[in-house]
Amino acid sequence: MLSPSRRFAVGLLTVLLAVPSARAQVRYQILLKGGHVIDPRNQVDAVMDVAVADGKIAAVRAGINPAEARTVVDVSGLYVTPGLIDAHVHLFATTGMKGAWAGDNSVLPDEFSFRTGVTTMVDAGSSGWRNFEDFRNRVIDRAATRIFAMLNIVGLGMLTDVPEQNIEDMDPKTTAAMAVKHRDVVVGIKSAHYQGPEWVSVDRAVEAGKAAGVPVMVDFGYFRAERPYYKLVTERLRPGDISTHMFRGPVPYVDGNGKLLDYLKDARARGVLFDVGHGGGSFVFRNAVPAVEQGFYPDTISTDLHTGSMNGAMMDMLTTMSKFLVMGVPLNDVVRQSTVNPANMIRHPELGHLSLGAEADIAVLRVMEGRFGYADGSRGTITGDRRLMCELTLKAGRVVWDWNARTGTDYRKMTSDYGVRDVDKIILPPKK
Ligand SMILES: [Zn+2]
Repeated sequence: MLSPSRRFAVGLLTVLLAVPSARAQVRYQILLKGGHVIDPRNQVDAVMDVAVADGKIAAVRAGINPAEARTVVDVSGLYVTPGLIDAHVHLFATTGMKGAWAGDNSVLPDEFSFRTGVTTMVDAGSSGWRNFEDFRNRVIDRAATRIFAMLNIVGLGMLTDVPEQNIEDMDPKTTAAMAVKHRDVVVGIKSAHYQGPEWVSVDRAVEAGKAAGVPVMVDFGYFRAERPYYKLVTERLRPGDISTHMFRGPVPYVDGNGKLLDYLKDARARGVLFDVGHGGGSFVFRNAVPAVEQGFYPDTISTDLHTGSMNGAMMDMLTTMSKFLVMGVPLNDVVRQSTVNPANMIRHPELGHLSLGAEADIAVLRVMEGRFGYADGSRGTITGDRRLMCELTLKAGRVVWDWNARTGTDYRKMTSDYGVRDVDKIILPPKK
């Protein structure tokens, strides 16, 4: 990765090279012109141009010569951010037995990713060591979206009718071995939906995480008196481990005076990470609003995307981000929590920013203004004056979503036979 001074030097070199030639040479495939760039990792928050060459970020600065780009896209009035990373989704679709949670509730990635500016998704434990390779073959290796996965500590993952209660199938050693074998894709271990009074599902996930050298993400399942939530985040999880569904109803947030409870800050000081994982019913404004008001922001915003949440109050990544925006989290932080923070959380620091040479995963977002209603997982609502929508998405420099047809050409300016391939023949009917 280039340091800021090195980036400056490279930028300067690009300027110097551009000056002498009277007729500019085309050096960029695509130039996003005049957008407000928010790249928290590089402390960029200003109107700038972004140029892409060979699928990588080639220049980020003001005043790039449009003649140097094959395609120039006017994105003035819009925000240009790194491609969004949704760190909690479910993608092991249409498989397993009838009634199996992940099989019946998962979605396929490309149908939901690019249209919301998401270029990277992390499946949160839909599969375990017994079926991860099937999942990889069926979904991960066939998607255009970049997919990572966390392995469920339960060998069958979420593909049984009684998901994730089988202690016999929680095998840290074999889980860790599978994670290591697929190190290019597996970025963590997941414990979820556990109902019993013991810590076994959390502890075995942590054991597997230690053995494989990856973080653990915990969905705390049933909140039982025998294993209180505060102990999960202040004792059981390690620094870098993740508590997802952070704004679920039973998570204690404030005392009788409405003051944020100290254990949350203690957990954060230990290095435990807090992830939104909105889901169908794992997010209440009753918890999120006072947390945001008192500065306890999520480390990562994620959807817990599945068929239930996407047709419910969660909807998609941008709706989830918009909720934090209207609760009072500054846009720069909302973008940070949806780009560089999840990239670091899954230990893929090459993602989530627009550094020179980085993969050109880019989202171009509009902040709509008006009156918008937002619901939580229990039909609690707030209203807000802004809402994010995605105008354009690039994955590795390729346009994969273009809501306003910004990268096309007025058809009247195209050739008289455009849309006809070499193999096609246009045959007119005989004249009458
Ligand atoms: Zn989930």
